[in-house]
Amino acid sequence: MIKLIINNTEKKELINETSFGGLPVKELNNDFEWPKCKTCNSEMQYQGKIKTDIGLELIFMCQNDPGMCDDWDANEGGNKAIIMRDEKLEFFKPKSKENTLREIEYSVEIVEVQAESYDEAIENWKGDTRDVLGSVFGKPDWIQNDETPNCDCCNNKMRFIAQLEEGPDHKTAMNFGGAGVGYLFDCSKGKTAKFLWQC
Ligand SMILES: [Zn+2]
Ligand SMILES: [Zn+2]
Repeated sequence: MIKLIINNTEKKELINETSFGGLPVKELNNDFEWPKCKTCNSEMQYQGKIKTDIGLELIFMCQNDPGMCDDWDANEGGNKAIIMRDEKLEFFKPKSKENTLREIEYSVEIVEVQAESYDEAIENWKGDTRDVLGSVFGKPDWIQNDETPNCDCCNNKMRFIAQLEEGPDHKTAMNFGGAGVGYLFDCSKGKTAKFLWQC
């Protein structure tokens, strides 16, 4: 069984849901600083969030100078995955409007499809394949080598959470190098997450 992420523009209440684009969320009574890129020190771009059993996992990626800040790498600081406990949440905004938000917002639904692999799940899914935006849980379907990151808190291999297509519309898509795939991992013990992409 593969759990596909399917584009669904019907949902409107997105604060506590898996969604992409729009504004990120933060815990209501906690200060939170918009993440900055380790290489260029500018604010990163918010990509989207995945709801899991340990909270909402937010993905940020530097888009100030695409290709120059190692934003594909899980450990170089050109991207950041942050977990927000899904209690009381509010949307929050970046200081800079430049390259920090995507010009789109979309919701999704998770659809279980009988299949052994991600590719087979897409084949077996009855809808429009352009609406398939990735999968959650299970195993990653790598484009290149297995790059499962180790956790910084316990040094174990991290848990696979999601793999993501760039988006439903190429004009507003996430930039994974052109038809690349993003991979999100977490550590449920340390409540940390990492992100990387391949193409
Ligand atoms: Zn940067
Ligand atoms: Zn850990």
